[in-house]
Amino acid sequence: MQKLFWANCQSGFILTFNNVFLSCKLLVLGGGSGGCSIAAKFAGKLGKNQIIIVDPADRHYYQPMLTLIGGGIKQLKDSSRPMESVLPNNATWIKDTVAHIDPVKSKVITKEGDQISYDYLVVALGLELHYEKIKGLIDSLSMANSGVCSNYSPQYVERTYNTLSNFKSGNAVFTFPNTPIKCGGAPLKACFISEHYLRKHGKKASSRIYYKTALPSIFAVKHYADKLMQLCQERDIDVGLREELVEVKPDSKEAVFKNLDVPNDERTIEYSMLHVTPPMSPPEVIKCEPSLHDPMGYLKIDKGTLQHENHPNIFGIGDCTNLPTSKTAAAVAAQSGVLYDNLTNIMNNKPISSKYDGYTSCPLVTGFGSCIMAEFDYDLQPLETFPIDQSNEHLSMYIMKKDLMPQLYWHAMLRGYWRGPGLIRKILHLGMGR
Ligand SMILES: Cc1cc2nc3c(=O)[nH]c(=O)nc-3n(C[C@H](O)[C@H](O)[C@H](O)COP(=O)(O)OP(=O)(O)OC[C@H]3O[C@@H](n4cnc5c(N)ncnc54)[C@H](O)[C@@H]3O)c2cc1C
Repeated sequence: MQKLFWANCQSGFILTFNNVFLSCKLLVLGGGSGGCSIAAKFAGKLGKNQIIIVDPADRHYYQPMLTLIGGGIKQLKDSSRPMESVLPNNATWIKDTVAHIDPVKSKVITKEGDQISYDYLVVALGLELHYEKIKGLIDSLSMANSGVCSNYSPQYVERTYNTLSNFKSGNAVFTFPNTPIKCGGAPLKACFISEHYLRKHGKKASSRIYYKTALPSIFAVKHYADKLMQLCQERDIDVGLREELVEVKPDSKEAVFKNLDVPNDERTIEYSMLHVTPPMSPPEVIKCEPSLHDPMGYLKIDKGTLQHENHPNIFGIGDCTNLPTSKTAAAVAAQSGVLYDNLTNIMNNKPISSKYDGYTSCPLVTGFGSCIMAEFDYDLQPLETFPIDQSNEHLSMYIMKKDLMPQLYWHAMLRGYWRGPGLIRKILHLGMGR
C-alpha cells in the first residue's frame, strides 16, 4: 500500500495515494449514539453489505454514565463496550477517521486514504472537546492530586471522585464554558453530587461551593431553572452567571474567570477542587466543507425533517448538527425515529413528512437518590413523560437515570428499537397533549 499524503482543509487540499475504493448504499459517519442507532435501524432493512460505518474509536462509551462515575456511583469499566460489539453485524465498520467529505461527488475520504462513495449519507460525528483552549488546563489535568478534574472525558473522569474523596477544605469550583456543550445539565449535576458528597461526609462546613457558568441563566428552561436556583440557595451554592474560565494556575491552585459582560474584568479564585467542562466545537471535517455547515460550523439540516439543507441525500443526527435544542442522547433517540422515517421515504422516492419537535431530556441528578427529570422541546416548553411534576426531585427519576436508562441504551437504542418516549408519554397522559 502506498504512503498517504494528507493535508487538512486549512491548507486547502487533500492528496491521497492509497488505492482502496469502497461504495455502499448508506454511509454512516460516527459510531456513537446517533450513528450506531441509525445503522442498526437500517441494517435489518437494507440487508448485508449495504451499510458502512466509519469511526476510529476502539470503544463506544455510554457518556451519560460519566456523571455518575464522577460521583463514585458507577465505575468507568461499566460505561463502555468494544465498538465492534455495538455495531450491527451485517454492516461494515471502517476503523478510521473521516478526513474529507465531498457532498457533490457523494464521496468521503478517510485519514488512511480509503475513498468511500455512497448513495445516502448520515453524519453523526458528535462534538470535539477543547481542553487545550484553556491555558494551563491540560497540564493541571495531567498532574496527580492537582484538584483539577473533568467528567467530560473518559480519560479524566476518574479524577473527579478521587478529588472529591481527598477534599478536606476550601473552594470547590464547577465551570460551564462559553460554547454549546453536550448535555447542558451535566456541569450542574457534577456540582450537586459533589455538594451532597461533602455534606454527607461532614466537609461542607469547611468548604465553599461555586458554580460558574458562561450562560445568562442556570438552565435554559424556566420551569426547571426556578427550582434549580432554589436548590442552589438552600444548599449554599454560589452561582456566578456570565463567567468564563480562561486560565488554570496549577502551582498556586488558582482559576481565572473572565466576566463576559464587563470588558477586561478578570477575577482569580483559589480552589481545592476545580471541575472543568471544556469548550466544545463541531468536528473540523464538517467545518472544512462550506456547503455542509451553518455560520457556527454545525451541520446545516432542516430542524423538522433532519435532511441537509443543500444536499438532499445527506441527513444529520445528534451533537454535530445545528438543531436548536439541547444536545443529548435522549434527543438523538427522538431524532433517530424521524430520520429513519424520512430517509426510508427518500430511498423509496416518496415525500417526507416526519417532523422532529426538538424533544430532549436531561436527568438533573441533584444528589445521591434525587433527580429532576427535565424534558422539553424546541420552544423550551416542558414535554414530560410521567404524570407527575418532574420539576420536583424524585427518587424514582434517580433510579431511572442510574439503573434503567443504561439498559434502555445498550439493549434498545443501540439496536435500533428506541425512538424516544413519545408513545409512552401519550399512553400515560391518556392520549391527551403531545
Ligand atoms: C458527561 C456527560 C454527561 C451526559 N449526560 C447525558 C444525559 O444524562 N442524558 C443524555 O441524554 N445525554 C447525556 N450526554 C450527552 C450524550 O452522550 C450525547 O449527546 C450523545 O452521545 C450524542 O450522540 P452523537 O452520536 O451525536 O455523538 P457521540 O455519541 O459523541 O458520537 C460521535 C462519534 O463520532 C466519532 N467521530 C468523531 N470524529 C470522527 C471523525 N472525524 N471520523 C470518524 N468518526 C469520528 C467519535 O469517535 C464518536 O464515536 C452526556 C454527555 C457527557 C459527556
